[in-house]
Amino acid sequence: METLLLRESEALTRAAELLKRGEVVAFKTETVYGLGANAFDKRAVHKIFEAKGRPLDNPLIAHIADISMWKSLAREIGGGALSLAERFWPGPLTIILPKAMFIPDEVTAGLDTIAARMPRSPFALELIRECGFPIAAPSANLSGKPSPTTAAAVLEDMDGRIPLIADGGVCEVGVESTVISLVDEPKVLRPGAVTLEQLREFIPDIVLADSIAGKPMSPGMKYRHYAPLAKLVPASGTADEQAAFLCTQYDITPNAIVICSEETAAKLSSRRHIILGSRNSPAVILSNLFESLREADRRGAETIFMETFGADGAFLAFRNRVQRAAGEN
Ligand code: AMP
Ligand code: MG
Repeated sequence: METLLLRESEALTRAAELLKRGEVVAFKTETVYGLGANAFDKRAVHKIFEAKGRPLDNPLIAHIADISMWKSLAREIGGGALSLAERFWPGPLTIILPKAMFIPDEVTAGLDTIAARMPRSPFALELIRECGFPIAAPSANLSGKPSPTTAAAVLEDMDGRIPLIADGGVCEVGVESTVISLVDEPKVLRPGAVTLEQLREFIPDIVLADSIAGKPMSPGMKYRHYAPLAKLVPASGTADEQAAFLCTQYDITPNAIVICSEETAAKLSSRRHIILGSRNSPAVILSNLFESLREADRRGAETIFMETFGADGAFLAFRNRVQRAAGEN
């Protein structure tokens, strides 16, 4: 299969055509690039799993353009869910509720619940409106790899596997949405750019899932994710301790690359590093994480040493992705 790369209105027209015909298409959202299909068409949704090599027991997020679409997906949308949506949608928050009867099992991995999100990217919203149905979409990477935040990164993984990549430029947020469940007690299943602190202003008693502390719990959370080809080793300790550790690694580890803040880069003895941004701008650091992992692979790194930044605000999502990409390292 030939994979077309198109932009703007040409991309929109072609993407809508393909989606209506039951094909899969990659498109930009503000979080990461998604690999979308008609959420009501189980054969189309199945093609997502084939293109990604994704395990069938890992459920998808349905992307919507308005609240009436949400009502076609979820059985009951309570007042709490609606006010969260009003505050954070369109934006990088996914809400899990009991599902409506006619959602294909392929979307929810057989669960009785459905994850929904209204993306902020104008292209994604227009595409969903043009189609008139919710678009089920995971990240547009091969299963297990870092999520793509540029069309070039999608092409690296999906060339020959899908008919179209709608190139909308660089994703602003750069990591997947925050996922919360409102099915039982309100719970954060995956941290993202909408922070725990922001959610607590609305739901003071919302808790973090054990999986964020490292124990596999949520479906799909048990798989190794986000992993570059290189071995990934997170640093730990204070900023000074980490800088000292990172400096010594160049001498003892062949083909090492350091990924770090600009403050730490200024202290390093080698130029073999990739800068994420300033430690004072957590959102910028987060947005550059996945692309930095892919860039380290492109440069042929054997080992990546990664600076870490604690768990406050957006850094909780950063820590979560780095821990899961590092696996046992
Ligand atoms: P991805 O789109 O690749 O970011 O993956 C979506 C993730 O959302 C899955 O891996 C799950 O962790 C989570 N998710 C989606 N639907 C559900 C659901 N019904 N219940 C629990 N978690 C879900
Ligand atoms: Mg993914």
